[in-house]
Amino acid sequence: MALLDTLARPLRNLRLSVTDRCNLRCEYCMPEDDYVWLPREDILNFEEISALVDRFIALGVDRVRLTGGEPLLRRDVATLVGMVAAKPGLADLALTTNGVLLADQAEALRAAGLRRMTVSLDTLRRDRFIALTRFDRLDAVLAGLDAARHVFPAGLKIDTVVIRGVNDDELVDLLEYGRAHSAEVRFIEYMDVGGASRWSPDRVVSRQEMLATLARRYGRIDPISEHSSAPADRFALADGHAFGIISSTTQPFCRSCDRSRLTADGMWYLCLYATAGVDLRGPLRHGASDEELAALIASTWQARRDRGAEERLALADRRAFVPVQDLLRRDPHLEMHTRGG
Ligand code: SAM
Repeated sequence: MALLDTLARPLRNLRLSVTDRCNLRCEYCMPEDDYVWLPREDILNFEEISALVDRFIALGVDRVRLTGGEPLLRRDVATLVGMVAAKPGLADLALTTNGVLLADQAEALRAAGLRRMTVSLDTLRRDRFIALTRFDRLDAVLAGLDAARHVFPAGLKIDTVVIRGVNDDELVDLLEYGRAHSAEVRFIEYMDVGGASRWSPDRVVSRQEMLATLARRYGRIDPISEHSSAPADRFALADGHAFGIISSTTQPFCRSCDRSRLTADGMWYLCLYATAGVDLRGPLRHGASDEELAALIASTWQARRDRGAEERLALADRRAFVPVQDLLRRDPHLEMHTRGG
């Protein structure tokens, strides 16, 4: 019997952030000069992560995605992949990366049991990549994607955050790049999450606009109907080529959200927009039994009523979720790169 929250949503998808560090500074995620990092001694080791994953799996989680920060910065992340991939009861294990370190690690990740990989790529133009991320690493990302398409032939995706005036003229180029690399592209509406301190409504390109842009180039686009709690709605071009749109900002899907997030220091968040999480590291390190941890996770999930993206949509005057001065002075857990995208 699935564990359900107050809106009958099952506990199923767990996003595991394995580090809060990143080797890029994407302007929509980490735009500032200074960051408060999680203290090193708070970061869960692999055995601790594995123990918590066991508790989640016992309560119904069957899909895990490793993320960050940049997960490939975590030393020996392939070892963790192997530990999680070996767990009975897990139907799906995936990883989201910016791709900078992927060319060197793709083989080891596959050998460890990873079958699905998402690479974030917002532009194919070097000048834009540098402006967006503050690093001249587009070539490394493209080399990573090249390696990944051979190593993950059936499980490669590209995630693109679309921002007006930044990369909204590259939808076709990115879709064609994905096609050439056997990767399904998913266009993400710019979200006003913690870290997106420069967000404003006029910079959001809506799903409707994206579809209109693509229809001008490709003609007819059909929705692919499927029963899924995945965040992306999928569409097919007339020649059958598929892509996705994640419209969390203009058409949120809180009612079917079965995702929660565990930070690298063991804080568990039930919504990307939650301002408070539940500390699982403390009880784990203080010797809580499996049953006690399971009871904490179960009772927290059963009380869950978050509808963060829907509540944001209902705001009359919508601005950045967390003002920049609060990001710097308050809590690193408010940041997207800590919480895990
Ligand atoms: N470093 C990895 C990466 O780049 O994929 C994993 C972490 S990153 C936080 C995960 C995803 O969150 C990326 O695809 C990123 O584009 C997305 N993201 C971050 N800030 C966002 C925002 N304001 N709106 C939409 N997506 C965002």
